[in-house]
Amino acid sequence: TVAVVLFTSDLRLHDHPPLRAALAAADEVVPLFVRDPGVHEAGFDAPNRNAFLADCLADLDASLRRRGGRLVVRSGPVAQEVDAVAAECGAAEVHMAAGVTGYAQRREEQLRDHLGERGVALRVHDAVITAVAPARVTPADSDHYAVFSPYFRRWSGERLRDTRPAPRTVRVPDTVTGEPLPSRDTLSGISPCLPAGGEKTGREWFSRWTRTGLSTYEERHDDLAGDATSRLSPYLHFGALSPVELVQRARAHGGPGAEAFVRQLCWRDFHHQVLSARPEASVRDYRTRHDRWRSENEASEDIAAWREGRTGYPVVDAGMRQLRHEGWMHNRARLLVASFLTKTLYVDWRIGARYFLDLLVDGDIVNNQLNWQWVAGTGTDTRPHRVLNPVLQGKRYDPNGTYVRRWVPELHDVDDRYVHEPWRLPEDRRARLDYPEPLIDLADGLARFKHARGRD
Ligand code: FAD
Repeated sequence: TVAVVLFTSDLRLHDHPPLRAALAAADEVVPLFVRDPGVHEAGFDAPNRNAFLADCLADLDASLRRRGGRLVVRSGPVAQEVDAVAAECGAAEVHMAAGVTGYAQRREEQLRDHLGERGVALRVHDAVITAVAPARVTPADSDHYAVFSPYFRRWSGERLRDTRPAPRTVRVPDTVTGEPLPSRDTLSGISPCLPAGGEKTGREWFSRWTRTGLSTYEERHDDLAGDATSRLSPYLHFGALSPVELVQRARAHGGPGAEAFVRQLCWRDFHHQVLSARPEASVRDYRTRHDRWRSENEASEDIAAWREGRTGYPVVDAGMRQLRHEGWMHNRARLLVASFLTKTLYVDWRIGARYFLDLLVDGDIVNNQLNWQWVAGTGTDTRPHRVLNPVLQGKRYDPNGTYVRRWVPELHDVDDRYVHEPWRLPEDRRARLDYPEPLIDLADGLARFKHARGRD
């Protein structure tokens, strides 16, 4: 007997319930990845993520080959391709991880229809992409939690499933053919300091960080200059690491650092359960606020300055330049630049979210759109009118300006006390700096936002 395993956002062999179940049910298994042209058509295949994906697929293929198998890669509409592969190898079952986004939900329905017509069973596995399945914990009066803290309490009490080891052997039928694996080398437009993808690298990274960074995570995770977060987000985005395994290993490590880290992983699950229940929140406001955001046309110059990291607010510019250079940005900086765009410049959050998705290696419809909505005050933040002040935030989370100087070399020689507000430098020194004046007076931005939100 033969079974197909469709890999999606779960590009790993460790702790992979669909693969385990397929191996238990069948003598031979086809590990399949389908490159869907719809992702390209939706403008979602950014070069940074394509490069990381290529690494993940190459690593998955190498791991399967060490176990006697291989990865089969196809291109085309997913349901049709899976159906064709199942027919070619006479598979009776197809296994896959449950998806969350509207796209994933539609894909699952199409697969069910296609395969059902020919009597092939589709088996969908929960808690592969998240630690706790989206609808697993719900409040009494709704299909999902809209506030993080009560969700976190319930989530923390959930018993996680046992993690599964990677299989020893995988036998793939000879009859099934695929196309060559994509390669990072053929891609252009990749950020110069993009990390390497793949399960092997991710596991090594996590083990090293558990030894070096986990214990101090609680006190250091907001330290912009310290860069002390795990940087595991791209591995989680592509499923090269299992969230269940991460939570369990952190809990086994114990201590306040591990607890704070597990709490962040819970944010990831939290957003997944919101989007699973409200897929339309990827494009529409989760909560209606009657905002009349400035559009791309109205604010084109402000938006360009924000994208290019020349707003004149050093910590905002540092974050935006880090994004371009690494395809990643520190969470504190993401909060700051998003607040600046939406609440200070009063630009539609979708414009910022789109730009992030063009560059972020961990760019994720679930976490990106819902974090943007959280910051814009249209999402799940219980204090939707708060506005982050980039000067105060810079002084607090980058007190010596180390992060700013790392990304904004124009300010390299500016003293600590002026590095977050270079416009206060004595006139002669200010005149010698090749750095823009502030794009907007923060007080004006705040007044506009308060006036706009006053209508709520
Ligand atoms: P760590 O601090 O080490 O946290 C560990 C893991 O917890 C992360 O890898 C991530 O999977 C999860 N996590 C942490 N914070 C959050 C959060 N606020 N929401 C959801 N999960 C979280 N994260 C993405 O994975 N993809 C995105 O596209 C994305 N876009 C964002 C956009 C904005 C405007 C903001 C404010 C945040 C966004 N985040 C996104 C969340 C967060 O910034 C990143 O997950 C984090 O910076 C990744 O770095 P890390 O792995 O070192 O995180």
